[in-house]
Amino acid sequence: MQKKIAVIGAGLSGLVAARNLHQAGNQVTVFEKARGPGGRMSTRRQEDYAFDHGAQYFTCRDERFRTQVEDWLARGVVAEWKAPVQALNPAGASTPTKEKTTRYVGTPRMSSIGRDLAQETELITTQRITSIGIQDDRAGTWVLESETGEVYPDFETVVLSTPAPQAVPLLSCDPEFQKTAESVSMLPCHATLVTFSKQLDPGFGGAFVENSPLSWVARNSTKTRRPEAESWVLHSHAEWSLAHMDASPEDVSRKMLQALSEVIDSPLPEVLFSTSHRWLLARSEEPLNAGYLWKESTGLGVCGDWLHGDRVEGAFLSGLELATAIKKSMH
Ligand SMILES: Cc1cc2nc3c(=O)[nH]c(=O)nc-3n(C[C@H](O)[C@H](O)[C@H](O)COP(=O)(O)OP(=O)(O)OC[C@H]3O[C@@H](n4cnc5c(N)ncnc54)[C@H](O)[C@@H]3O)c2cc1C
Repeated sequence: MQKKIAVIGAGLSGLVAARNLHQAGNQVTVFEKARGPGGRMSTRRQEDYAFDHGAQYFTCRDERFRTQVEDWLARGVVAEWKAPVQALNPAGASTPTKEKTTRYVGTPRMSSIGRDLAQETELITTQRITSIGIQDDRAGTWVLESETGEVYPDFETVVLSTPAPQAVPLLSCDPEFQKTAESVSMLPCHATLVTFSKQLDPGFGGAFVENSPLSWVARNSTKTRRPEAESWVLHSHAEWSLAHMDASPEDVSRKMLQALSEVIDSPLPEVLFSTSHRWLLARSEEPLNAGYLWKESTGLGVCGDWLHGDRVEGAFLSGLELATAIKKSMH
């Protein structure tokens, strides 16, 4: 039987749940507060440049995710990122990472994945949902309200797919789920996005960094089908971000670029463009392994990377597993 389903959040987990439930014949509407889909797996485009400023790449271990990745590979939505990845330590030796990890990226940008998943479902963007309420005291019928005062009634099922701290206020309708979301705190990360006037090739595509403000640096331009401009993405360690929460974007960029020069032990070329972005909720301090939350009696479900060990693959599996549980309860 077709159901009217709302999904809050158009990150990977919400989009996967939405697509799955839509393909099963339900009437699904996705609500997203940002201007487009993708969430933390998105791309910032500025002037003529594009930067994957959130998720850098993803790996694939689970067979269910592998089936999806193979479909994306066949359709050119993702590609392998073959550039070498290193471990850098300005206080010690730098080493190539030892594992033989296959890394994938969205093509021509990370946000292509969200756009691909969002194709089939109704997506309402720039609409922040501020409450999930039980409609007219009828358990199992939900009404959503948005920041702009819009009211969306008559949903039989609601899927909430936001990061845990953003789920907490929305879960006042279910104190048990709310308590679970409250138990997960998230850490910030600054991303500095920079384009240089000429090549800067230290011999790697990406590097994990220790003993520095930086946790990760990537030559964005070494990823498949990117523009030729020499663009880099630098991520900070959470502790450094916590100590620089109120710093201006210019100050953050300057300090992170100085740190880049130190970790690669080289002066940097002229900067054509730089900016920085502050991810307040970058990753869970201690993600849960519940997979998802679902209550058949009320039709409320919760998914997201924070329920499935963090990262892109976890977000995908959380959305998929929740959709599977919802479909099962419909029979
Ligand atoms: C800096 C950074 C680097 C990362 N690097 C990697 C990496 O290299 N590899 C990897 O595997 N993972 C990485 N990750 C993690 C990866 O991005 C996430 O695990 C994954 O994208 C999470 O998907 P999600 O659907 O759970 O949540 P999100 O992507 O956060 O999606 C939630 C969505 O809900 C929306 N939303 C929130 N509140 C509301 C509301 N009230 N109303 C409507 N919409 C709302 C948000 O705007 C967002 O679009 C990184 C993350 C960050 C931030």
